[in-house]
Amino acid sequence: MSPTAFISTAIPYVNARPHIGHAFEFVQTDAMARYLRLTGRDVFFLTGSDENSLKNVRAAQDEGISTQALCDRNTEYFEGLLPLLDVSNDAFIRTSRDLHKRGAQELWRRTDPQDIYKKHYTGLYCVGCEDFYSEKEAADGKCPDHLTPLERIEEENYFFRLSRYQDKLLDLIESNQLRIVPATKRNEILAFIRGGLLDFSISRSRRRAGDWGVEVPGDPDQVMYVWYDALANYIAALDLREGSPTLEKFWLRGDERIHCIGKGINRFHTVYWPAMLLSAGLPAPTTVFVHGYLTINGQKISKSLGNVIDPRSQVELYGSEAVRYFLLRGISATEDGDYSEARFRELYNADLANNLGNLARRVETIGAKAAHSPKPEADAPAPAGYHEAMADFRFSDAAGTLWALATDLNQRIEAVKPWELQKQNKAAELAAFLDEMIASLRVIAHWVEPFLPKTAKRLRDMFQPGTPITRGDPLFPRLV
Ligand SMILES: [Zn+2]
Repeated sequence: MSPTAFISTAIPYVNARPHIGHAFEFVQTDAMARYLRLTGRDVFFLTGSDENSLKNVRAAQDEGISTQALCDRNTEYFEGLLPLLDVSNDAFIRTSRDLHKRGAQELWRRTDPQDIYKKHYTGLYCVGCEDFYSEKEAADGKCPDHLTPLERIEEENYFFRLSRYQDKLLDLIESNQLRIVPATKRNEILAFIRGGLLDFSISRSRRRAGDWGVEVPGDPDQVMYVWYDALANYIAALDLREGSPTLEKFWLRGDERIHCIGKGINRFHTVYWPAMLLSAGLPAPTTVFVHGYLTINGQKISKSLGNVIDPRSQVELYGSEAVRYFLLRGISATEDGDYSEARFRELYNADLANNLGNLARRVETIGAKAAHSPKPEADAPAPAGYHEAMADFRFSDAAGTLWALATDLNQRIEAVKPWELQKQNKAAELAAFLDEMIASLRVIAHWVEPFLPKTAKRLRDMFQPGTPITRGDPLFPRLV
């Protein structure tokens, strides 16, 4: 039986349309999912939408529509973006749906009863963050991130006894049973846990929640705190029921359980979530990959700055392959990166048009002229460093090994000058050279699939075994 891998994106709030930062996470997660499949894993790739947040309730109020109507409409923008970017998810979970609600409630029921208690609570809340801040963190009563006034909340809520899990979490992370990539994010979390863990609120009153969310089992006056229910999506999607074969295969006995997330929600995924799972007797994730944030031309993405880039418009302009390439190759996987259309075009022309595109074109042109039929495919091991880079989610480095190979092949063409072999009628030498080129192009075609699935197919189709090569459209026409 093949080893299994569960892999997920975070589920975005759907209070607005997706921006290029969402596309970044979708494409990174997709590249890893495709890589895992390519290397023989049986993969379950999950994404979805976080619909139970107060943000959605407020956004709907502002528009004068129901929260469900807002979620239905906006979720479509997110779900509709996935095929445009060639994202190969196996499932899409919506947290306002029954499958999810049932799973979140089941997780609550399975939680060690000692870990849930009720207490009266006062706190400062930011709806933008869906999180509480202490007086110390918010000196002027404003959210340190959003700079908007915090709301003072006074309620009786359920709490989760996170404080009990400090040692267990340290052990899990220090031993790398829960691997956090990159190391800087692992260190941040270790320091946070060593600083002492406080219990956290896992519910709110139905009234404050705007009568929206997942009901707490046995207490119809309370709904779950949005983060408690949102995190549950990962296992709810696998059908959290006794004897569920999907849950069994991909979570309980799964070989890898991977979450890909942005840096702002690391704590939720590497502290709260594993503790919630341990309390319920369920296995923790094995890997959490934390990416940085995107800026646009050096500025934070923000509606008020009017610099939100719609990933759809980029796909329409340049095609999904070019967008995927820039996100994976042109931006650091783990540091903050900048999305600039000037750099996008530069990288497109240099790497896609002039390097790989030109290489394929040259081999195709010479091959067509010689009516060459490629030999059967042989094993095509990846270039040195490719697997190591993928194992660390260093997408740019992994792609870099393929583009280094393409550069070498272009240089080989310059050195051998196959057009002169053609002129001199050295047919056998020319055929041998074309076979060598095509074998290397097949290495690229095979391992480029996680990054550029359409290009991978195009390259395979160009050089089919036993079929004379013909000249088609260029892979990547130059941008002017
Ligand atoms: Zn905030």
